[in-house]
Amino acid sequence: MDDTQISGDLTHVLFTKEEVAERMTALAAEIDRDYADKDLLLVGVLNGAVMVMADLSRALKIHCRMDWMAVSSYGSGTQSSGVVRILKDLSTDITGVDVLVVEDIIDTGLTLSYLISNLRSRSPASIKIMTAFRKPEAARNAVDVAYVGFDIPNEFVVGYGLDYDGHYRNLTSVGTLAKHVYS
Ligand code: 5GP
Repeated sequence: MDDTQISGDLTHVLFTKEEVAERMTALAAEIDRDYADKDLLLVGVLNGAVMVMADLSRALKIHCRMDWMAVSSYGSGTQSSGVVRILKDLSTDITGVDVLVVEDIIDTGLTLSYLISNLRSRSPASIKIMTAFRKPEAARNAVDVAYVGFDIPNEFVVGYGLDYDGHYRNLTSVGTLAKHVYS
């Protein structure tokens, strides 16, 4: 789905499909360099990180494994609930493994802080974070993110894996959802 099909639902497009693809390829080149000769495990955070994982992993030139976690975050609204629960855990033992957590978006960083401390307790060789999008509060909180696709304004965005009430994940670009859709 592209933005012309749902243009009434967006106030504006922040990043086109091409801009997102270009940025993911650039980040993959950095990760190639940083993880050469390492045992890299990409840990995608479901469901939002599906598109990021698919693009980032295929843009890498090094080997990587992939695993997934699901945690509860926003439910069906647009405000953080502050409740974090593991809904699906890893299938991989990460002891001694170089873990790169792949996120769709970091807003308050609440979800991520919980996830990282949980994963740290499993003794990985290293643990870093990659996110496609980061909002201002996360930047202010100095959540330690090694790879950031785009810093974005404090608006509710959809597309490229990011949903509103389960929809818009398959939008190829990323845009700001118009208030009439959720008010
Ligand atoms: P945090 O714990 O950092 O406040 O929230 C992170 C999670 O909230 C993300 O993984 C995502 O599921 C959701 N989220 C935060 N901001 C947005 C947004 O602008 N759009 C969408 N669709 N989800 C968001």
